[in-house]
Amino acid sequence: MPVNSAADATSSASEDANALPINELFYSFQGEGTFAGMPSVFVRTSGCNLRCWFCDSYHTSWEPTHGQLSLDEIVEQVQEHEQAEHVVLTGGEPLIHEQSVELLERLDELGYHTTVETNGTIYRDAPIDLASISPKLASSTPTPEKDPKGDGEWEERHEQRRVDIDALAQLVDGYDFQLKFVVTGGDDLPEIEALVDRVREAASTRVADSDVLLMPEGMTRDALDESRNAVAELAIEHGYRYTPRLHVDLWNDAPGT
Ligand code: SF4
Repeated sequence: MPVNSAADATSSASEDANALPINELFYSFQGEGTFAGMPSVFVRTSGCNLRCWFCDSYHTSWEPTHGQLSLDEIVEQVQEHEQAEHVVLTGGEPLIHEQSVELLERLDELGYHTTVETNGTIYRDAPIDLASISPKLASSTPTPEKDPKGDGEWEERHEQRRVDIDALAQLVDGYDFQLKFVVTGGDDLPEIEALVDRVREAASTRVADSDVLLMPEGMTRDALDESRNAVAELAIEHGYRYTPRLHVDLWNDAPGT
């Protein structure tokens, strides 16, 4: 199992410009995308500007929980995992926090390869080695029927915010990137193709089909068993890449994986 280290509410750091709300910090494999299988330290910030109904980090979005860790504490905890050369800054949405920039600068100075997992609605200028951009499709919207809280309170806000073409183009132009889509079914593909076309028009950088990754929706092995083959077939059919969710396949998405 991956190695967890403390990111709990007992941290002594107060909330300030040199700290981040951290939901968990752990060592595991990167489960998704280009670096799937890469041993990495995960720094999971709390807080998100969206509310996908299927959010696989519910305690950073719908019910955010975290300890406030200073940047010094975060870097120290990352360095405790001496084997790791890769750090994944994830959330929630890590780029809602201005302090993520300084954390990335410090990790870069220490020689780490950094991946930022982002929903693509916010651009920040920071040393990011891979922007792992996961734009959210209409199928992510928490309608009253799908909302885990059952009231549809976030439906409109989520729908208004979920795609920002300017931010997507800036991320694509600014960093090595992958565009990673959570696919709930074949109905998502026309929207993915249209969105990729809009990004291609807005960005100066070429977006190849191989930069587009389809990932099956599913937070448990059983759910993935239902979806992964169909999504793999969609990826082949459209010339896109398929990405697994290794942390679900291996550990059923247990906390700290
Ligand atoms: S953008 Fe990511 S972290 Fe935010 S609600 Fe959606 S899946 Fe969860």
